[in-house]
Amino acid sequence: MSTFEGSYMGNAGRISDKAQMECKICWYVYDPEIGDETRQISAGTAFAALPHDWSCPECDADAHQFLVKHDPLSDETQIKNDIAHKTQSLVVDFREIYHAKMRDVPIINHALQVEAVGFSAIENGYIGVLIAPWFMNLILLPKLGDDWSLLKPTHKETIEFPSGHYEFIHNIRETIGGYKACSLFSPMGDFTSQLQAKEVAEAIMVELFNGENQAETDRSADIRKAHETPEEESEIEIKAETSRRGLLTGNFSEEVNL
Ligand code: FE
Repeated sequence: MSTFEGSYMGNAGRISDKAQMECKICWYVYDPEIGDETRQISAGTAFAALPHDWSCPECDADAHQFLVKHDPLSDETQIKNDIAHKTQSLVVDFREIYHAKMRDVPIINHALQVEAVGFSAIENGYIGVLIAPWFMNLILLPKLGDDWSLLKPTHKETIEFPSGHYEFIHNIRETIGGYKACSLFSPMGDFTSQLQAKEVAEAIMVELFNGENQAETDRSADIRKAHETPEEESEIEIKAETSRRGLLTGNFSEEVNL
């Protein structure tokens, strides 16, 4: 029996027990969550666990004729790999900036190094914290298949999270492409160790998705709006920064002695 490109028989290991398989002759879909009543195949039976003589209930084509329609576990693995790949590129890129430009700048905290913390997939990208010896930022990276190469550097975008609205600045690097950054701390003089910075970053990722913080961020947005005149802009930015810091670090700042 010949196999076809994309046929699961070419490599049974690449489909998971959750994979939905489609008959390439008649487009019947075998869904393991449903099974196949016509052959008394109970719900929960993986395609790979079907009897050897099982064939398409619609057109009788044999199992070799089925292609992967959708495999949720394989999608999860793909996303995980994409996050690992993109955060690694981000870290390498900012390490190079450190060595090329920042190493001897006085604001550098030499107790710290570049590290990506807590990245996970959300609706509009991958969100996490980037720690560097001179800043800590929330970073939003493009999801698998999204092209952010046309982002306009310095363009500002307000992005909503359960804890409130945050202003992200668009940026592009030749190496990693487009990304969006929201400043949390800069410089990093108050941090005494990488571990401490990492704990703060992890706590920020929790607080970012905590809806109980909503009231305070809205207040900081109100303050910003009320004072949005060019002369006072720098003062307002400081206020907003302080408020955001308070919001995201308030619960644990004593603990880490910031
Ligand atoms: Fe069929």
